[in-house]
Amino acid sequence: MADPISAIVIRRTKGFYYLRTLGGQEIECKAKGSLFQHSRYDNQIAVGDQVNLVMEDDQKIGLIHSIEPRKSFLSRVRVGIAAEQVIAANVDLMFITIAARDPEPRPGLIWRMLVAANLGNVRPVLLLTKTDLIHHRHPAWLRPFEDIDLEILKSSKVRGSDDNRLVDLIGENTSVFVGHSGVGKSSLINRLFPGLDLKVGEVNEKTSKGSHTTTYAQMIQVAESGFVIDTPGVREFGFWNLDKEDIRDYFPLIRQYSGHCKHSDCQHLSEPHCFVKEEVEAGRIHSDLYQGYMKLFAE
Ligand code: GDP
Ligand code: ZN
Repeated sequence: MADPISAIVIRRTKGFYYLRTLGGQEIECKAKGSLFQHSRYDNQIAVGDQVNLVMEDDQKIGLIHSIEPRKSFLSRVRVGIAAEQVIAANVDLMFITIAARDPEPRPGLIWRMLVAANLGNVRPVLLLTKTDLIHHRHPAWLRPFEDIDLEILKSSKVRGSDDNRLVDLIGENTSVFVGHSGVGKSSLINRLFPGLDLKVGEVNEKTSKGSHTTTYAQMIQVAESGFVIDTPGVREFGFWNLDKEDIRDYFPLIRQYSGHCKHSDCQHLSEPHCFVKEEVEAGRIHSDLYQGYMKLFAE
C-alpha cells in the first residue's frame, strides 16, 4: 500500500471531501466505510479535521482511512443520542457576532454560544458589529459580558473598529463566525481581507468543474495561517432548540457541581439545598453564568 498522506478537510459535500495537504495540494476523497463503525464522532468527518488518506489505484481520488483526534470542535449536543453532530473541527476561535442594532441584539443567544464554545474547547470572542449605529460605547445588555473573562471587540464600517486586533486574530487562527444573518459577518471579513473575494471565487470555480457542486461546508483561507470555516451549520449555530436536559448538561461548570445537590434531578432553580446556588452565592460560580443558565431555562 502507498504511504498515507496527511491532509486537512477544507470542504465537504454529500459523500465527498476535499482535502488540502501540507504542500498545498488539493485532493478529492471518499471515506472508507469502516471508518465510521467505531468512531465516537458518528458518521461525520467535519471541515477542519486532520485526516490520513491513501490514493486509489487510478491516482484520481483519495480514500480517507483515519481521523486524527480533535483539539476542539463545535457540535450540536444531543443528550441521549450517542452521536455528536460535529459541525467544525479544530477551531481556535469562535466569533460570536452581534450587531449593536439592525438586527436588534439578543444577548440570550450569546450564552448558548459561550457554553458551546466552552464545551468544544474553542476560545470565544464577542464581536459587536455596526457600532456606528449606536451612541453608547457600552450598551447596557453588554455589561454582564464585560464582567466575565471574555474578549470583546468592536467593528464598524464607518469608525471605531478594533481592526488591528481582528486582523491579527483572524489572520493567525482557524475561526468561525456565528450569529444571525445580517449582522455583518461577510462585510467584516471582506473589509479586513480585501483580497478574499478573489480566493473564494477560485475555490467555487474549481468545485463547479466536478459533478458534485453543492458545497455544504468549507474552510476559506484568509491569510498565510488564517482560516475561516463557513458552513450552514455554523451559520445556524446556537439557534436550534435546547431542551432542559440539554441545558443542564450544557453548562460544564454547573454540571461539575451538580452531584452535590440534595436532589439528584435538581435543576438548580429554586430547589432547597441546591449546591450550585450555594456556590453562586459564595462567588465560586460566576453569577452571570448562572443568570445565563436561568435565562436559557426560561426561554
Ligand atoms: P452577514 O449576513 O452577517 O454576513 O451580514 P452582511 O455582511 O451581509 O451585512 C448585512 C448588512 O449590514 C449589509 O447591508 C451591510 O452593508 C450592513 N453592514 C455591515 N457592517 C456594517 C457596519 O459596520 N455598519 C453599518 N451601518 N452597516 C453594516
Ligand atoms: Zn442544584
